[in-house]
Amino acid sequence: MKTIKVSVVTPDGPVYEADVEMVSAKAQSGELGILPGHIPMVAPLQIGAVRLKKGGNTELVAVSGGFLEVRPDQVTILAQAAEKAEDIDVERAKAAKERAERRLQSKQEDIDLRRAELALQRAINRLNVAGKRG
Ligand code: ATP
Repeated sequence: MKTIKVSVVTPDGPVYEADVEMVSAKAQSGELGILPGHIPMVAPLQIGAVRLKKGGNTELVAVSGGFLEVRPDQVTILAQAAEKAEDIDVERAKAAKERAERRLQSKQEDIDLRRAELALQRAINRLNVAGKRG
């Protein structure tokens, strides 16, 4: 089986590194599937799950946006934050989700709605990747 090297990198360092058979990610333009031999490209990502197919298994990494770069022998995902499914703190994500929902529901004028929406999306994404729903 042909494979391609994948790295998920954040400002705090690498989060995931492996040779995989396929990478799926949520680009701004829609879902992308990258197989070995894919043409080089760069795409901005949405907050979402990156799926990595490897030896019959699919591993999940939650990414908070960023960029995906495809080179002939390597896919690099650069994200502000990224967590492997098993590293996600579900209680923390639930608390972040509730906090964001409270902010979105409050009628206060000084609430930054866009910021609260993004925090909500990150929390929901983490809960989905961890296999739980708030
Ligand atoms: P919170 O409000 O809980 O901090 P957040 O979405 O604002 O959530 P980020 O700014 O996206 O957090 O991330 C800050 C750092 O904390 C990153 O290193 C990220 O990987 C980590 N992180 C955030 N939430 C979780 C979580 N639920 N489980 C594990 N790591 C997390």
